[in-house]
Amino acid sequence: MIREIDDLFHQQIQSWPLLAKGIEGLAQAKTRPVRIDWFDVFIRHIPHRVKSTTAAVDRASILKRPCFLCPQNQDPEEKGIAFGDFILYSNPFPIVNRHLSIVHREHGAQRIAGQFGNMLDLAKALSDSFIIYNGPECGASAPDHLHFQSGSRELFPIEIDTRGKPGPAIPGYARNVLVFRGADRSRLIDQIDRAIELLSAVTGKAPEPMINIAVFHDRTGWTVYLFPRGKHRPQVFHTGELTVSPASIDLCGIFVVPLEKDFERISGENIAAIFREVTLPDDQFNQVAAGLEGVR
Ligand SMILES: [Zn+2]
Repeated sequence: MIREIDDLFHQQIQSWPLLAKGIEGLAQAKTRPVRIDWFDVFIRHIPHRVKSTTAAVDRASILKRPCFLCPQNQDPEEKGIAFGDFILYSNPFPIVNRHLSIVHREHGAQRIAGQFGNMLDLAKALSDSFIIYNGPECGASAPDHLHFQSGSRELFPIEIDTRGKPGPAIPGYARNVLVFRGADRSRLIDQIDRAIELLSAVTGKAPEPMINIAVFHDRTGWTVYLFPRGKHRPQVFHTGELTVSPASIDLCGIFVVPLEKDFERISGENIAAIFREVTLPDDQFNQVAAGLEGVR
């Protein structure tokens, strides 16, 4: 599978100008690590992400535009690789190397119910990469068409930050995140289902609480990061102070900043405050974590 993805990129860079431009944009992206307490966040300035960062994802705006994940609206040069019910495409606006959009064959709502097993299978097949899910109200720019993304793990800060930490909570990490590990696929699916159920109950959000998910697979099995969200975008986005809108990749430690003026001035304190603001508040998070402890 990894070999096929290499070939896909090789072929698509030659034949699809939009992708070639995106790969060039990523090559020119500047990255600045910033230390926050005991961990690093990598601030990455990528001008071509400005449309995603500022995308209008309210219902009315989504209904008005053609769905860019449906085949009839894609560039004619865009080609993909089949994986079960999904097609893997090179992402023309990459944040990381080998950035793929993993798109369901059918146009239908972004919902994780019944789909988490597919994320685990993708993570196993693409073991050089992480797989992510952005909930429809927390970062997905196509909330009307089910999709995941994947990207190279060569820079994946959360993997290093959480190594050797038992979870499910990671204390003092600025963002609230639940970590699950194991080689038992059905047990992990049960754990995530249970966590989502608890989050729905605690936040009153049904059918799906606001979440981002990231998962990768290595020799020890899977590692899953579940980020429960308190809100979609931070206050500094709405006031115009900083053009940032964190989703899975940002919460995993690669913080995307499309505007140069923000890249120069954003601090570790700013990022820690944004993480705290957009992930679930401590009191609700602790209730969920306590509920999970009971069933471990
Ligand atoms: Zn669609």
